[in-house]
Amino acid sequence: MIVGVDIGGTTTKIGVVNDGRVTATKRIPTLGDDALGTEPGSAFADAITQTIRSMDASPLNAIGIGVPNGNPFTGSIDRAPNLPWKSDIPLARMLKDRMGVQCALGNDANAAALGEWKYGAGRGTNDLLVVTLGTGLGSGFIIDGRLLLGPHGNAGELGHTIAVMDGRMCTCGRRGCLEAYVSIRGIRQTYLELADSSELLQQEGVKPIADAAQNGDDAAVQAFRDTARWLATALANAVAFSVPERIVLFGGIARNGDVLMNPLCRYFKEALFYIYEGKVELMLSALPEDDAGILGAAALVDP
Ligand SMILES: [Zn+2]
Repeated sequence: MIVGVDIGGTTTKIGVVNDGRVTATKRIPTLGDDALGTEPGSAFADAITQTIRSMDASPLNAIGIGVPNGNPFTGSIDRAPNLPWKSDIPLARMLKDRMGVQCALGNDANAAALGEWKYGAGRGTNDLLVVTLGTGLGSGFIIDGRLLLGPHGNAGELGHTIAVMDGRMCTCGRRGCLEAYVSIRGIRQTYLELADSSELLQQEGVKPIADAAQNGDDAAVQAFRDTARWLATALANAVAFSVPERIVLFGGIARNGDVLMNPLCRYFKEALFYIYEGKVELMLSALPEDDAGILGAAALVDP
């Protein structure tokens, strides 16, 4: 048995994974509060430990943790902008000390890539690109049968490649990053620039815009077309330097179906260098939405 821990900005999902299937899950808040004088992150590590002990996870072999800014070499969460800690949290060591089992930690996009490769739509490939579309845009590359990490564990960040010269401000402090366009915030911004009214933006997320696009709302349709075009160009560029057999799209935005996928497939074909024509598949995640992050985290153990 492996426990997968999928850490998000507000909620952390913990699941027991047995033979590629999630058999039990629990959710806890992503805690930032520590008692005075304790090691930063210890309240959170204690909460995870208690939760795992309350689940049917024996015999437990290992724990895998997927988290934004997870450093696979040190096992630490490096100061992530959307997480509550202001210092690096050595969570892999903290859980290993508490639970006495092997503990692997990695960044959430790489976890998603391994999860798709081991259990999902990437199975059977040797070269795979997984792109996660949500609050941000993450990516993980499997090249020649291995997850690409690079010397510092943070290789393959498509979200912070420049999509538009002198474009929108990105959370990283630079202008024009792909993530500033192809993400929940990006799509909402694009819609706002195109629409006469911001009424749809009173609700969170991109679902209201996707629903409006499905109903033929011009600005919403155009917002998804523009999004598809920025993403297609980035994917075609990624194909030219990494040549995956398959690209898998993962995360909430990808689940909006045809409004994104139809223009995406069209623009991707147009943007692709002809020598790769017919050699790269573009598809959606095959993992159950609720379990995907947990399976990805579990896949970090002995990738
Ligand atoms: Zn950026």
